[in-house]
Amino acid sequence: MSLIPFQKSKVVPISINYKIHTTLDVLRLDEIHPVVSGNKWFKLKKYLQDALDKNKKAILTYGGPYSNHIVATAATSHYYNIKSIGIIRGEKPKFLTHTLQHALSYNMELHFIDRRDFKEKCIPKTALDPEDIYFIIEGGYGINGMLGAMEILQQVDRNVYTHILAAVGTGTMLSGLIAAALPGQQVIGIPILKDYSLEQNIKALLPHEKQNFELIYDYHFGGYAKKSPELIQFMNNFYEQTEIPTDFVYTGKLFYAVNDLLTKGFFQKNSKVLVIHSGGLQGNLSLPKGTLIF
Ligand SMILES: *Cc1c(COP(=O)(O)O)cnc(C)c1O
Repeated sequence: MSLIPFQKSKVVPISINYKIHTTLDVLRLDEIHPVVSGNKWFKLKKYLQDALDKNKKAILTYGGPYSNHIVATAATSHYYNIKSIGIIRGEKPKFLTHTLQHALSYNMELHFIDRRDFKEKCIPKTALDPEDIYFIIEGGYGINGMLGAMEILQQVDRNVYTHILAAVGTGTMLSGLIAAALPGQQVIGIPILKDYSLEQNIKALLPHEKQNFELIYDYHFGGYAKKSPELIQFMNNFYEQTEIPTDFVYTGKLFYAVNDLLTKGFFQKNSKVLVIHSGGLQGNLSLPKGTLIF
């Protein structure tokens, strides 16, 4: 499969009618590429460049069978013309998920390992010398991920915003947004899982003078990839109102949070809020047909 070139993302204003004078813009990173939808392209590019600089012959990373990170690593490696190896948690299923089918179509070599070996980050035998392999940890957490994510804000005129909001998994993207934000801008992360070490993990990627941010832990819906009928209902309503599709792991929770914060009057009058739509729509393919209206 050839890679469709990455598109420049666009910013769309959305107006949800609230009494307060708040402007809400959405940076549609979900539109940069149909498969590598979203932030993963930004998070991965510096790793890929580093691997090529170091003359590595392959990229190796880890993930589950629905992982946005796996499919994005496959596609981005394909784009940079370097082999990719995906270590997948669990036994090889009879039918591969859409995610893994996409990864295969980008020539990723897949290895299935059981949960215990996965936890230990065991590496199965490959045809390559481990010296020639460039490792990216699960989720792409790290300095190179942060540096790549800084480029996200180059897509917008960032001067106009008072607040920047994004979903948080490992916190790598958020750390890039914090590093690239202007003084006085408030960067707010919505963790999609209950992991109270996130704050430390984010700070670890940032210089001391750039550590101004807030995490709001009220919207994880019970944990990673956990959902409720209320969340699904919200995602459908949000799509009806804005024509913006969201995913149930990350951006559904993010926009739910934005909506709730607006309703509660969290933002002061005349705030200008930029919400990062970080993509991840391919993950919705794991939901039963008909769950979502888009
Ligand atoms: C991976 C991902 C995130 C989280 O990014 P982190 O850098 O791990 O915090 C957010 N949104 C989407 C759609 C993702 O795929």
